[in-house]
Amino acid sequence: MAERIVKIDGVGDNKNKFGHQSSGAGGDNMTQGQQVSYERDRFLNEISRCRALPSPPVLASKIIDMAQDPAISVNDVAKIIGLDPAVSAKLIRIANSALYSRPRKVENLRQAINLFGLNGALSMALTFSVVGELKGGQKTSEDGLDYARYWQRSVAAATACQVIGQMLAVGRREELFLAGLLQDIGMLAIDCWSEDFYEGTRSLQQSHFEIQKYESERLGMDHAEVGAHILNNWQFPEVLVNAIAGSHHPLDGVVNQEFITVAKVIAVASEIAEVFCRGQDESDLEALSSLVWDALALDGTSLSGILGSVADEVVPLAELFEIDLSNNFLPRAVAESAKEVLMLRNMQSIQEATMLKQVNVHLQRKAQTLEEENRRDALTCLYNRAYLDKIIQEEFESARENNWPLSIAFIDLDHFKSVNDEHGHQMGDQVLQTSAKLLIQATRGSDVVARYGGEEFVIVMPGTAEDGMRVVCERILNAFRDMHYHPPIGEENFFVTASIGISSYSESMEFNSAEELLRAADKAVYAAKLSGRNRMVFYDTRYND
Ligand code: GH3
Ligand code: MG
Ligand code: MG
Repeated sequence: MAERIVKIDGVGDNKNKFGHQSSGAGGDNMTQGQQVSYERDRFLNEISRCRALPSPPVLASKIIDMAQDPAISVNDVAKIIGLDPAVSAKLIRIANSALYSRPRKVENLRQAINLFGLNGALSMALTFSVVGELKGGQKTSEDGLDYARYWQRSVAAATACQVIGQMLAVGRREELFLAGLLQDIGMLAIDCWSEDFYEGTRSLQQSHFEIQKYESERLGMDHAEVGAHILNNWQFPEVLVNAIAGSHHPLDGVVNQEFITVAKVIAVASEIAEVFCRGQDESDLEALSSLVWDALALDGTSLSGILGSVADEVVPLAELFEIDLSNNFLPRAVAESAKEVLMLRNMQSIQEATMLKQVNVHLQRKAQTLEEENRRDALTCLYNRAYLDKIIQEEFESARENNWPLSIAFIDLDHFKSVNDEHGHQMGDQVLQTSAKLLIQATRGSDVVARYGGEEFVIVMPGTAEDGMRVVCERILNAFRDMHYHPPIGEENFFVTASIGISSYSESMEFNSAEELLRAADKAVYAAKLSGRNRMVFYDTRYND
């Protein structure tokens, strides 16, 4: 066998990629990239010339020609398919199978063609014709390509293609079926090209992935690429050629967008066929389930349904194609046990999703609480300076935009230092907390009350003009005057007054920025302090001097 192996990309032969085997046509002055592509083309040409591989049968060639003619009629199609009575009979049988559930029985070829559509009927006829031919040419070998397994896999994959096509309402279901059946035709071609290529690989053939790896290591390409090349030579529809070429890696972005759905369906069908042909454990089903989700966005329940339908349909279809499903091919049993695993998995993922949702809600609440905490001053629980700055900015913008008033009251406690000095810092803290409550009580919910720092507070009052401010601030001043504190025995009761500076953004008094408005209120407080404290003062431009 070793002598026939061409090392297309030199895998396993690091030293000498092409073994300096450049033949005349290859030329010595080719770049390495040209060399690789030359070797690949040469190999693919060689493999497609392999005489043992049947060329498309006469009927198939005619069908392919006809499918390319836009002016074909039902008559034309019936005439050509009718050339092969066995194929016609099979078309009628498949039209009556559960895959095409219909209330009335399909009796003749014309009805079948109407059911499949012209192209669908041609594809279906092509499938029977090509499969018949390929099966006729197969050899028997103890140790090489396992034909029985090959055809079981193919018919299972084709059935899965049909079932998924039906479920997703993909057009071209018959083409999908054909693609499912022929997706591994590259293996037959490789086997024809080198009789002993698959010798000693029976155990690798148990896994489609392992056999792909084996091919790639020896040929620099796998049977998907070879198969696509063959079908291209046979002038099969481009959609099939491309979808089969990309069927092993439909999610890697290598497949043309136009053909991506077909490539994904074929890839999924291929893995489903694996489930039926090989004993699958839970992790295989997990992987399949993930693939089905990633490729087609179908969940475990849908997958379970697909497996059930494939199990039902694969037996009659295999019979139609004269494919022998051996004794250990037990589709019902496989579908049943898969169903259990998938149901369990579905329940688990529902539980996981619910838990995830709860965690999310919890995190969101925590984030909200944290954000709220970040806005608040620890001692008084009023909004802090950082949040105040943001709010003033926002409110100033919206007042300017909407032309409504915006007022700010800057409140500074009078002689607060003496509270600390005479009654202690703790009492001072208590006064600050009580002051905060008084301010909240005196204002509306839509006003923003913040601790500016130390014993200074700011209230932002959107929509309130000077007259309104006078009322609110009078209320605040009175509340402070009326609040009496009772320190521990031995010290005299006391009260703390406040000085308030007010600035209002209105038609009569315009400010250029939020900062300017706040600074004006600060200046007004200073004026209030100078004029005797325990009072309110409205900002006046004179304070700028
Ligand atoms: P004025 O009437 O001129 O405003 O006099 P004042 O004493 O209120 O002003 P001053 O700025 O001189 O003093 C403010 C005091 O507030 C000084 C500082 O120790 C006190 N202070 C600032 N933050 C806190 C606090 O969180 N807790 C306590 N207990 N005192 C604070
Ligand atoms: Mg102060
Ligand atoms: Mg003060």
